[in-house]
Amino acid sequence: MSRQIIFGLTARTVVVFSFAAILAMGATIMTGRVFDRLRASQERLTKVEVEELMTSVRLIQQTETLIGLGLMLTHADNHNERRRAIMELNDRQAWIAELTSELTSADQDQRLIEQAADAQRRLSENIQTLSAVVRDRIDARHSEKGPASPDQEEQARRIRQLSMDNRELAGQLSVLMSYFSASKRRQLQNQSEKLIQDIQDHKRNLFILTILLLLSTLGAGLYFKYGVVDRVVKLQRAVDQDEVDPANLTLSGNDEVAQLAYTVNRYVRRIQSQEARMKQINADLAFLAEHDPLTQLANRRHFDIATRQLLQHSRTPLCIAIIDIDHFKRVNDRYGHAVGDLALQHVVRWIQAGLRESDVLARLGGEEFCVAAPMQSIMSACDVFDRIRQRIANEPMPLDHGGSLRLTLSSGLTLIEGLPLPQDADPEQMQHLLNAALRAADEALYTAKHGGRNQVRASSILFNAMKYLSDAPEVMS
Ligand code: GH3
Ligand code: MG
Ligand code: MG
Repeated sequence: MSRQIIFGLTARTVVVFSFAAILAMGATIMTGRVFDRLRASQERLTKVEVEELMTSVRLIQQTETLIGLGLMLTHADNHNERRRAIMELNDRQAWIAELTSELTSADQDQRLIEQAADAQRRLSENIQTLSAVVRDRIDARHSEKGPASPDQEEQARRIRQLSMDNRELAGQLSVLMSYFSASKRRQLQNQSEKLIQDIQDHKRNLFILTILLLLSTLGAGLYFKYGVVDRVVKLQRAVDQDEVDPANLTLSGNDEVAQLAYTVNRYVRRIQSQEARMKQINADLAFLAEHDPLTQLANRRHFDIATRQLLQHSRTPLCIAIIDIDHFKRVNDRYGHAVGDLALQHVVRWIQAGLRESDVLARLGGEEFCVAAPMQSIMSACDVFDRIRQRIANEPMPLDHGGSLRLTLSSGLTLIEGLPLPQDADPEQMQHLLNAALRAADEALYTAKHGGRNQVRASSILFNAMKYLSDAPEVMS
């Protein structure tokens, strides 16, 4: 069962790249906006500001010509000269008025504009008055030729005064125009400084955005290293062990990598449990190959192997015995096969009780058992097996439906001396010795049966293992 991933690697990747994309987009938009501002400022500078600067320069020139024209008017000898001067003056004043109105609409100092308008108005009035006085002077000169009357002197004095006023007013206007020009220059300077500041700010912002972009790239790199690659490598290393420990196959988090670890963990546990089952089956099969399912005793094959090992390890002689249940066929015939099976298990329990753990007991087949047990002598071996015989004869098996079943055993034994055999002893020769000993025990068993059953008989044939293996099989009596 896989766990649900809410915020997996795909979503995380999208978030990281979206963040980077937003930063990049922000940088682009910011640059675009600053370029727009730069273009607007540059357009304004070239089209408007420079134009206004030029206008204010032209104004200065125009106001300066007013002084010369004023003098022309003052010194006019006839009406023609006077009219030309007055026309020129009017012309210049119209120009100045037009240029001033251009600047008035611009972003100029309002007080300066008012002062300029006032100076212009007063200059205009002064020119008109001067023109009228000059006209009177010309008329008077044409009518009376002779020495100057006191009126004429007064007239001349007024003209001088008006001319001086004219010069002064024109000078004032010119100074005001110079202020215009200076203020325009200051404006231009301010704007270019603002532009430079704008560019600096933008450079700083772009730098911060680039650092953020770099940091987010670095963050994404670190996340993919520690959050994805390292965890996958950890998982791969944990799986790559000879003995995989599922405890190492867990990763914290709720993403595809943790999911993968979870699945691998479950897979490994499944494989390991199947492996354990296979091992158990193999062990069971191995046990079954060498044991009897009814009594759980070793079979002949296992008996041979275990007894050959005893031949090489036991320092005391080895008793080889064959035990057979007496008249067992009758048990089956009388009580049935199932009771026969129980009787077999009953007998086995008592035989085992009479032997040591290290002794080898096997079922040869049917109701026949063989034993390999280290014993000091054939006499002590006879004692051991006789005790077993007595116990079974004296402990009848209780039956399910009441009553009991008395069983007896017959045993034949022999002894192998001259032990242990060397480690490099030939297994075939050892098997040969064992077969001979079993035959001798079987013959003794035959004697016991014929002797009336329920008894133990020792073979007259005893064996010396060393001799048996070095010479031809030799019999000891
Ligand atoms: P004796 O005293 O001469 O040994 O006589 P016996 O009847 O014990 O010997 P016999 O060899 O004639 O009979 C052995 C019987 O053991 C035959 C068979 O039915 C029985 N038997 C062999 N194996 C099994 C088994 O696994 N279960 C049961 N219930 N009976 C078995
Ligand atoms: Mg029997
Ligand atoms: Mg038998």
